[in-house]
Amino acid sequence: MKKAVIIGSGLGGLATALRLITAGYSVTILEKNKTPGGRLNQLKLDGFKFDIGPSFMSMTYETEELFRSCGIPLSLELKELDPLYQVFFEHQPHPYRIWKDLSILEEEFAGIEPHLKTKVERYLAQGRKIFNNTEAPLIKSNVYGLTDFLGKIARRDITLLPYLFRNMWQEVERNFSSREAKVIFSLVSFFLGATPFETPAIYSLLNYVEFRHNGYWGVQDGMYRIIEELEKILRDKGANFIFETEVKEVLEENNRATGVKDQNGRRWEADVFVCNADAASFRGLILKRPQYSPCRLDKMHWGFAPFTIYLGVQGKIENAMQHNYFLGNNFKGYARKFLSSSASPERPYYYVNVASKACPGYAPPGCESILILCPVPDLRFKKNWTDKDNFADNIINDFSKRVHFNVMKNTLTRKILTPEDWESMFNLYRGSGLGLCHGLFQIGYFRPKNKDEKLGNFYYVGASTVPGTGLPMVIVGSKLTFERIIQDHGPLS
Ligand SMILES: Cc1cc2nc3c(=O)[nH]c(=O)nc-3n(C[C@H](O)[C@H](O)[C@H](O)COP(=O)(O)OP(=O)(O)OC[C@H]3O[C@@H](n4cnc5c(N)ncnc54)[C@H](O)[C@@H]3O)c2cc1C
Repeated sequence: MKKAVIIGSGLGGLATALRLITAGYSVTILEKNKTPGGRLNQLKLDGFKFDIGPSFMSMTYETEELFRSCGIPLSLELKELDPLYQVFFEHQPHPYRIWKDLSILEEEFAGIEPHLKTKVERYLAQGRKIFNNTEAPLIKSNVYGLTDFLGKIARRDITLLPYLFRNMWQEVERNFSSREAKVIFSLVSFFLGATPFETPAIYSLLNYVEFRHNGYWGVQDGMYRIIEELEKILRDKGANFIFETEVKEVLEENNRATGVKDQNGRRWEADVFVCNADAASFRGLILKRPQYSPCRLDKMHWGFAPFTIYLGVQGKIENAMQHNYFLGNNFKGYARKFLSSSASPERPYYYVNVASKACPGYAPPGCESILILCPVPDLRFKKNWTDKDNFADNIINDFSKRVHFNVMKNTLTRKILTPEDWESMFNLYRGSGLGLCHGLFQIGYFRPKNKDEKLGNFYYVGASTVPGTGLPMVIVGSKLTFERIIQDHGPLS
């Protein structure tokens, strides 16, 4: 039986492990932390539970495909969101609820954006065209060299080319007149770790995904159920999990990896290695590849870093839904200046997930479990977070005012994770929460590849390799990596 060692137990690592073990490989998973899941993890604190990062997902058919292709019934209960979320603007009395039914959505924007339904329909039709043109050939296919990549692009609908060179903000400006509609429809760029001013307009396909294609979904009993389920299935199939084990060195001979060594010098050998640690920084910091030296890594475009606050609160917050955005009045100025600044902003923009609204088991009766996520500059720009408590207080006070509930006074438990914590917990380069961004020169052929340039039996999976970041993309990535391994080494059963 051939042996595979997986470095890291994030969603990408576990999904690849499942595909490999189903194909007959013996699988060992080495994980730096005490629990599996990586960014898709769970925090338990004083009777409260929190999803530490992801709180919803799209393209759920990719999760279904993963289970189905491995012959396992999907035991997770997925719950569709509608409304998708609500958005609070500063000094406006009511939030905008974002419904998938465009007639209801139009009522939300009455007096703000005339003919919203017609405009959104036109905008989404374009997003659909982009999605259908790119999903199979570009997102869900391996790239075999520059000629292959350019050929795939050249065969796309030529009328879509300008979307590669315009940004998301320019795109929403072409479609909507009100500030509110423009801001709301450009929020999807933050899911890719960047502002709409630097994200190519091609990603307006994500609006089509959220409204029409498959929508957004939560998981009954919390997002961490995905990881619990994968861990259980893998253990039942004989996978070996080894925690608190950080790979520090890759041993090689004749352009093949022969083994990996952890922080204590313990060594594992295998026929095939799959690295689920960040595909760019692992090459630079562990494999010491000159093209990924720290200096070069710092010049790459990394997704914003998360500043996250976890609050267990006494009382029910009636004005909050499960998914909420809190924005100010100067989106352009905020996005342009703050995300590459060394100072904390006075009026931050942030997202709030009140998980207890959908998962009662996340909080004791009569309480709420809250995650606040504020996108902040990565550690290249803001190097320390000694002001973390002030920054958190500032956000919590703002949140309290906007939902008319004294969150600060009713907080029973609280934990903060700064970019420094995110970096050290999961080896996220400079604390970037989403990994490498998705500009023209960091996608497809130009993204760190899922097969190592030098070592013939060493592969990568996860947010910073192809196709990109986000839970469904990482699952698609596991299929692409698996395909590569099977092409190179063959199935075993
Ligand atoms: C705050 C936040 C919110 C998000 N929200 C959403 C959302 O709502 N929906 C969505 O779809 N996506 C969301 N994302 C993105 C999503 O979480 C990621 O794209 C995805 O989880 C990445 O999975 P991965 O497999 O690439 O890697 P990771 O989750 O990073 O897993 C990698 C694993 O490898 C381990 N590791 C690293 N180095 C080593 C080493 N040397 N040796 C051993 N182990 C190692 C790490 O500890 C980690 O467990 C969010 C991300 C963040 C940070």
